[in-house]
Amino acid sequence: MDAKQRAIIHIDMDAFYAAVEQRDNPELQGKPVIIGGSVESRGVVSTASYEARTYGVHSAMPMAEAHRLCPNGIYLPVDMQKYRRVSQQIMGIFHRFTPEVEAISLDEAFLDVTASQRLFGTAEEIGYAIKGLIKTELHLTASVGLSYNKFLAKLASDMDKPDGFYKIAPEELEAKVWPLPVRRMMGVGGKTAQLLEGMGVRTIGQLANMNAGLLEHILGKQGLVMHEVANGMDNRPVEPVRESKSVGRETTFPQDIGEQYVLETILFTLADDVCHTLRTSGLKGKTISIKIRYPDFRSITRAVTLDSYTASFEPVFDAVQRLMRDNYQDGTPVRLIGVTVSSLKKDDEIIEQPDLFGDDSRKVRQQELNRVMDKINARYGGDTVHRARKLTGRDKNGELF
Ligand SMILES: [Mg+2]
Repeated sequence: MDAKQRAIIHIDMDAFYAAVEQRDNPELQGKPVIIGGSVESRGVVSTASYEARTYGVHSAMPMAEAHRLCPNGIYLPVDMQKYRRVSQQIMGIFHRFTPEVEAISLDEAFLDVTASQRLFGTAEEIGYAIKGLIKTELHLTASVGLSYNKFLAKLASDMDKPDGFYKIAPEELEAKVWPLPVRRMMGVGGKTAQLLEGMGVRTIGQLANMNAGLLEHILGKQGLVMHEVANGMDNRPVEPVRESKSVGRETTFPQDIGEQYVLETILFTLADDVCHTLRTSGLKGKTISIKIRYPDFRSITRAVTLDSYTASFEPVFDAVQRLMRDNYQDGTPVRLIGVTVSSLKKDDEIIEQPDLFGDDSRKVRQQELNRVMDKINARYGGDTVHRARKLTGRDKNGELF
């Protein structure tokens, strides 16, 4: 099939965490609501409502700065459990139209609706139907981008926010995409953008019309990928995560990170999240893997298989940390990092091998601790209790603290 005949939808919920809170608490409607960590823990903004954005507050901003910009804002902690629940409902709506759903985060997904059009009407109709169901059933708004590949669909969903619908047809690439600033391209972070702008390349169109070999010379393989994408070529498939084969979390950084202790801290959170999902799904896994993607889009995946099935944080993070230390050179910039647990089994299908010789008490204590934490979080919502990890860093003299 002609690559330009695919129908790819990218759906992004509008100010998701804040919108859920505003929906559930009418007093918050129309007010600047900011969801994030505490100032004391040097937290950052997870989501700012549109009202808060008019004060200049945006996600990933330190909470302290948000307070300065918007002193009258309503500040709420992240209620992950609640957002996960709503996310499952949203994903459920997507699955009514296609099994080809690739969730990118709790509030964002790609859908390949190419084949769905025979059953549900045109891709536009499907996009509007999904928006409508999210509004009537969940009382939330989403922005939909429709195009023929992932890059353009994602770009489109951002063009008409909030509550938007935007389509980029193959013949509209030059008119709708080429005038956009080059920073809107995936993979063009601050440094790359500065480099390109320094060469007079300010728009996606200018990039598209550059000599590909020159771009490769300047930016390596990433330059070639960017050139193709700017010309509307992106054949990446929508990859649904088949349920119960693996549970994974990954995160792409707004700017590359090259410090091992920071990366390990992020892995810590991802591993905790993965284990929590395993336990709430009644699953345990045996294979632990990490994924590291470098700025040139080269990725490595490294895995280790444990002796027994687990959903406990400690053995999973131990394995993750070992994999990281064996495969990562401190100082190397990283673009994306992820943790996955696979070789899964349902909890009740696992026959426990009693450890006749070793001391099982630590394992039992860990399981008990995990169970209690999940129970408290389930009852009081969100991450009422979570593991504390001291975030180490370096002071001005380069000393670890
Ligand atoms: Mg969103």
